[in-house]
Amino acid sequence: MDERYILDKINTLCKELSDHNYRYYVLDQPVISDKAFDIKMRELADLEDQYPQFKDPSSPTQRVGGGLVKIFPTFTHSRRMYSLENAYSRQDLMEWEKRVLKKLENVPSYVCELKYDGVSISLFYREGRLHRAVTRGDGYQGDEVTSNVRTIRSVPLELRGEFPDEFEARGEIILPLKGFEAMNQRRLKKGEDLYANPRNTTSGTLKLQDSAEVAKRPLDCLVYEIKGEDLLFSTQHQALEKAREWGFKVPHEGKLCKNITEVFDFIDRWEKKRQQLPYETDGVVIKIDAYEQQALLGYTAKSPRWAIAYKFQTECVCTELLDVSFQLGRTGVVTPVAHLKPVKLGGTVVKRASLHNADIIQKLDVHYGDCVFIEKGGEIIPKIVAVAIDKRPKEARVVKYPNECPACGASLIRNQGKTARYCFNEEGCPPQIIGKIEHFVSRKAMNIENLGEETLALFYKAGLLKNIADLYELTDYQILTIDRIAEKSAQNILQGIKQSKSRSFERVLYALGIRHIGENLARKLAYHFTSIDAIQNATYEEMIALRDVGSKIAESVQFYFSKTRHLELIKRLREAGLNFQIKNSEFSENKGLLSQKTFLFTGKLSCLTRKEAEQTVLSQGGTILKGVSKKLDYLVVGENAGSKLQKARLLENIEIWTESKFLETLEAYIDSDAK
Ligand code: AMP
Ligand code: ZN
Repeated sequence: MDERYILDKINTLCKELSDHNYRYYVLDQPVISDKAFDIKMRELADLEDQYPQFKDPSSPTQRVGGGLVKIFPTFTHSRRMYSLENAYSRQDLMEWEKRVLKKLENVPSYVCELKYDGVSISLFYREGRLHRAVTRGDGYQGDEVTSNVRTIRSVPLELRGEFPDEFEARGEIILPLKGFEAMNQRRLKKGEDLYANPRNTTSGTLKLQDSAEVAKRPLDCLVYEIKGEDLLFSTQHQALEKAREWGFKVPHEGKLCKNITEVFDFIDRWEKKRQQLPYETDGVVIKIDAYEQQALLGYTAKSPRWAIAYKFQTECVCTELLDVSFQLGRTGVVTPVAHLKPVKLGGTVVKRASLHNADIIQKLDVHYGDCVFIEKGGEIIPKIVAVAIDKRPKEARVVKYPNECPACGASLIRNQGKTARYCFNEEGCPPQIIGKIEHFVSRKAMNIENLGEETLALFYKAGLLKNIADLYELTDYQILTIDRIAEKSAQNILQGIKQSKSRSFERVLYALGIRHIGENLARKLAYHFTSIDAIQNATYEEMIALRDVGSKIAESVQFYFSKTRHLELIKRLREAGLNFQIKNSEFSENKGLLSQKTFLFTGKLSCLTRKEAEQTVLSQGGTILKGVSKKLDYLVVGENAGSKLQKARLLENIEIWTESKFLETLEAYIDSDAK
């Protein structure tokens, strides 16, 4: 076929699909069916596959992501991303108004916008195309997360209409409540831990290494500011209008107010109505509308004087306490969970709340049937903050934290200085036994499929499994004695168990379920000590010498290895063929964190000497260059850096890092899942 024809076809499809994307994700007014959209998308993807020379980075097909990013490069913001000053009351706002009026000759107008609760992002556009997306970071420097942000459908890859050559759009990346709940529903089904709240999930998502994963999450981007030279408008409200014309998603709730009374009205209205919004908000941002007046007011060390964030009061609702259950975790800790009459709070329906621990139960003096006040904190489960004692039903029974384990009857023990109570009957307490096996087989640990909570409970009841080592001695004959399991599933289970023998040492270490040893720590310990024997033999001092290992962790590791039953378990697992040390191949792969990366240091470093820094790079497989050139990947800058820094700034591809960024990245890199 004629190449020109193909190119035209690709361009037309790109344009059409971007348009549909815009209508769907920004305007919320789709004009074609999802199916028709998919067909066109397929057509475009096929053409791009056949003619890769015509594939454009702004093509709608690129929204699905793909490709791994190992390190998110640091990027220095050309304009600092400030925080906002907070106001908690009308009084605070009036004082702010007073300060503003004092500095201005003319009475200002204000723009009120909702304060979207997500992660701030700076989107840099050049010639109408998304060029770079950077998180706020510390305000001066952030992480470049362009490949992940590209997958967000409401971020335009190409702008519409007339726009400046270069500018920066700032906005908030959020996870709408519906999408957040759908994600949690899916996790619930799979028996995975739930995400705590939309904001943390958003920030975690932006740091995922696989943009294809990011593309699957329903993130959204709400734009609230435009920064640049020669913008051709001079007020905040015009900026928002323009941003909307260019194709950004700018919520329509924002309002231009003539005076502070109108601002108060806006706040009143949204304090009540914010529950109806599809995303979480935590306040109202009030900005002086005219750029000229903004410039007169300027900035404090932390925030603009021309804006302020009024924080909504945390919402608190009252509902009936139906019951309290005491749930046992795999580590034996007993947590009280309140079951409530369902009530709406912060846009979601709440049925359960945390009652923390015995002390709090006592302090609140909760009774069954009480009317309790619940509040949402940062955690997934809201908490009970107070009890309406005057509404207490007559003869209500007081809620008592049990002295015995609700599952096995063993006495609960409270460690000195700790509020939690534990059941230490590790070997005889069913939920703990099953919980430990569940953890062992879970996806991030040994990743053995087909062994969900229910199946494990059946195995336990049938006496087939008492601990994790029993897994490797299961036979199909044994499994088939369980009624509900068919031949085929039994085969799959055994196959899964067999495959798990090849999991790396770091996973095995994590899977053991040593208290306080999460994935990241397991990885660190694995790579530092390289074998289970070395970890077992490490002294307390050797342990706490490691960064991120404190006394709590060191004690927990030592406690684990002090128990003969654990040593026996490890022995059996070792005999079954599990990895208890790092394999050489793994080591070199993972150790070469910086392989193929080139570094140069300049200026005076404060934590490391130049030599130590260079040694670190070399030991991780990186290379040190002699001077700034196109071959350089990272320039690490200390105090009083001179010409090298200037030169590096002129070259496009060099990342400029501070020393702390260098140290953090190495740490984070060791932390991150390298697989
Ligand atoms: P804080 O992090 O509390 O200092 O608040 C500042 C942050 O609020 C900014 O970095 C933005 O990410 C966020 N924000 C949310 N909505 C808005 C808005 N409408 N205007 C300005 N900032 C906003
Ligand atoms: Zn127990």
